[in-house]
Amino acid sequence: MKVLVAVKRVVDFNVKVRVKSDGSAVDLASVKMSMNPFDEIAVEEAVRLREAGVVSEVLAVSCGSAASQETLRTALAMGADRALLVESGDSVEPLAVAKLLKAVCDREQPQLVILGKQAIDDDCNQTGQMLAALADLPQATFASALKVEGGALVVTREIDGGLETLSLDLPAVVTTDLRLNEPRYVTLPSIMKAKKKPLDVVTPADLGVDISPRLTTLHYAEPARRGGGVRVPDVAALIDKLKNEAKVLEG
Ligand code: AMP
Repeated sequence: MKVLVAVKRVVDFNVKVRVKSDGSAVDLASVKMSMNPFDEIAVEEAVRLREAGVVSEVLAVSCGSAASQETLRTALAMGADRALLVESGDSVEPLAVAKLLKAVCDREQPQLVILGKQAIDDDCNQTGQMLAALADLPQATFASALKVEGGALVVTREIDGGLETLSLDLPAVVTTDLRLNEPRYVTLPSIMKAKKKPLDVVTPADLGVDISPRLTTLHYAEPARRGGGVRVPDVAALIDKLKNEAKVLEG
């Protein structure tokens, strides 16, 4: 059984994101980039399935600029067997990524596709769902546990107020939630080994996919700066402020 894992190169989660002064984009100059954290969880889950003997091959796929090769090398160092870069420029919209992944699925015929539940740069939470729709595959989003049982995929999802467990026919699409696993640290020997693993590059045109943007971003803005705090003398003064200044309590 082959697993395809989608990995996106994003601004590292520790970086404080800044907007360019003209509001046209996020400033990416000299910013540390890393694999999207939910995608690390996706790679970890795929590699664990391979280590458990359930899966025979893990293919990591990224859509982006040539710099995404670095992210794919990290996936290879974590244990993926092969990588594929769909070289498509810096910013590809979720629908275009879903179409590219669908085209890769048509070529590679994976039994399972694992994506992150969302990319922490655009927070779209769309790509997995769009891919499942385009490929007409069953989907389980926000997975917190996953196992393959007798040809079916059993996925536990975190939902409001509890857990939901689904059984899906394979092939299927899964998106990862935070508690699915804790990704391993990448060791130096595995980084060295990853350099020798295959990493292919194709273009959207090779896959017959039009990735022209469909959305226009009008403006980016940083959140309003937080005002300074004040110390109140007693509870009565606090309640007065909550009622009459913040207006979050009814009087
Ligand atoms: P999003 O819908 O943008 O929040 O992304 C959800 C998930 O789709 C991510 O966690 C990735 O697994 C996958 N994904 C999104 N964009 C890309 C990309 N450019 N290359 C590879 N995978 C992607």
